[in-house]
Amino acid sequence: MRKKFILEESDVPKMWYNIKADLAKSPDPLLNPSNNEPLKPEEMEALFAKELVRQEFSNDRWHEIPDEVLELYKMYRPTPLVRAYSLERELDTPAKIFFKNESVSPVGSHKLNTAIAQAYYNKQEGIKRITTETGAGQWGSAMSIACSHFGLELDVFMVRQSYDAKPYRKILMNSYGASVHSSPSQITDYGRGLCASSPEERGSLGIAISEAVEMAVKNSNTRYTLGSVLDHVLLHQSIIGLEAEKQMEMAGERPDKIIACFGGGSNFAGIAFPFIRHNIRAIAAEPAACPKLTKGEYRYDFGDSAGLTPLIPMFTLGHDFSPEQIHAAGLRYHGGGRLVSHLKREGFIDSVAIEQSEAFSAGLLFARSEGIIPAPESNHAIAAVVREALKAKESGKSEVILFNLSGHGLLDLSAYKEYL
Ligand SMILES: *Cc1c(COP(=O)(O)O)cnc(C)c1O
Repeated sequence: MRKKFILEESDVPKMWYNIKADLAKSPDPLLNPSNNEPLKPEEMEALFAKELVRQEFSNDRWHEIPDEVLELYKMYRPTPLVRAYSLERELDTPAKIFFKNESVSPVGSHKLNTAIAQAYYNKQEGIKRITTETGAGQWGSAMSIACSHFGLELDVFMVRQSYDAKPYRKILMNSYGASVHSSPSQITDYGRGLCASSPEERGSLGIAISEAVEMAVKNSNTRYTLGSVLDHVLLHQSIIGLEAEKQMEMAGERPDKIIACFGGGSNFAGIAFPFIRHNIRAIAAEPAACPKLTKGEYRYDFGDSAGLTPLIPMFTLGHDFSPEQIHAAGLRYHGGGRLVSHLKREGFIDSVAIEQSEAFSAGLLFARSEGIIPAPESNHAIAAVVREALKAKESGKSEVILFNLSGHGLLDLSAYKEYL
């Protein structure tokens, strides 16, 4: 029985897929908070590289991947698609379980797929310095590699909780040449204000985004990059699902369900959107501590804590929501983003909220059967897979489940230590 489905380098897709081209109803627009009018592309260009803004607003179905980006993708792409026979056996389920292994990238997650593209376009446009935020440290690490390749300076605002709890991630970013600041920091107005008013603040993604945005807006030749949530990020991540589509064909199977963990939606959309266009359903697995799709309200909200970003129409827990500290720091974001929220409202997507203990228990089951220690974030996807596989066992129905292993957990062993 074949276990791994591996493409040739020449089979890496040459274009990203934009699901907006295939939507019957357009999602609500981003709004400019100063006048509540639909945001104009020019208004985003102080913050993001022009080409990324163009992609953000584009309804074209396919976007050509630049040669230099494709070349860098070859560091780790195509990534394997694996049939999880041992996990199936362990669960004694008739379901066939496949996973796309995005943990094989040099930073150990899918984040590099968009980091490379974002650094490339900024470099093309003559930008010298990039700012960004990072929660668990995955996104910051990915941008660090991408920026070092293109010779860009990088300032990363790292959520203080993670900065203190995950020192290895900081060392990783420093190794690639990035400057890392514990957020809230003393180097932005917003950070200084917060440190003064609440010295105990442990930080959040929303706060770190505010600091990174402030630094980008106040400095010339500097632009901000975001690792999730926005349409252009989801576009770049479609490479995951496009590859998986070819690999499922190699396996001779069509998935009935796609499952991925959900922070701001990039790894979920990456694997799911290319399949949703063929009417395959997808399930987003969120942490119970931050259940924006499952329990949030659909409305306009800011993407950051300070209210510096455009207003985004999305399922949200509120931009000032402060989720409890969970190990899956990459899932502690308050909003579901515009595109995924739209698809949820249109009925293409389901969501489930998973408690941390259930996530880690599923992650360990996966590690012991498939050999890979998953990222704490990915554990949520695995827990949702386990739920579905056990349902299949109960009903005796065979079904094909495809999930995204968004990353490995080798830099998150302290989280496993606490769980064990
Ligand atoms: C960042 C991250 C996530 C969550 O972000 P999404 O944009 O929702 O994908 C999930 N898994 C890993 C390994 C991550 O690094």
